[in-house]
Amino acid sequence: MTTTQTAQEKPVELPLNLEPEPKPVPGCACCDNVAESRDRARANGDASGVSDCNVRMRRHLGADHA
Ligand SMILES: [Zn+2]
Repeated sequence: MTTTQTAQEKPVELPLNLEPEPKPVPGCACCDNVAESRDRARANGDASGVSDCNVRMRRHLGADHA
């Protein structure tokens, strides 16, 4: 990934976040599942696990909630 960002003022979120995380759809077990894994990965300081879950979440959102 290339970062061609200059000093841009953006609202500060969590320091780990480079882009907004996909949000789980309420009531969807699959979303819940991924969100849970993501929380667990984050609690373990597993940044690659977190971004892996974000990829899965985005893919799932695009496939099943588009
Ligand atoms: Zn879902």
